Amino acid sequence: MLQLDVARLKRSPGDTASFDLLEDLPPLELSGEVISFAAPVNARLSALNTGKTIAVTGEVGGKLELKCGRCLGTFIYDFAVPFEENYAMAQDTAAGNLLSFSGDYLDVTPEVEKSIYLALPMKALCSEECRGLCPVCGKNLNEDACGCAAEEIDPRLGILKDLLKKE
Ligand SMILES: [Zn+2]
Ligand SMILES: [Zn+2]
Repeated sequence: MLQLDVARLKRSPGDTASFDLLEDLPPLELSGEVISFAAPVNARLSALNTGKTIAVTGEVGGKLELKCGRCLGTFIYDFAVPFEENYAMAQDTAAGNLLSFSGDYLDVTPEVEKSIYLALPMKALCSEECRGLCPVCGKNLNEDACGCAAEEIDPRLGILKDLLKKE
């Protein structure tokens, strides 16, 4: 868990505190798929006591194990995402729909996970040049070429061949 010790900060409005945390987080789950972290998550955050809230800003970085959408291989994805959240102190009854916390520790884990979700690529690729799997034999073309490509016929040429046959 990524927790900020705000015991002192919450008693001194106008003050700020800096945090540099390194924590192992459990795997993320995204539409049934489990995504593991390949390294501890690093959160470099600054917290400001605004009088009513603790405003937390900074950056969260780490490494995830993603599956390539083309070759289905696992690769390490480095991420660095901005973080910005406002937490109402529990005494504040007018908190409305703000996140709130009580006690001396502010747990930012759920919001950190949310920031990471939002930063995940729509289509994960191990590399822009990933050659993917051969549609015929299923071989990973990044590792080695297979014999299929040579026999494959360009669909446009196929149509031309059919046309020629008709004449
Ligand atoms: Zn790939
Ligand atoms: Zn093949």
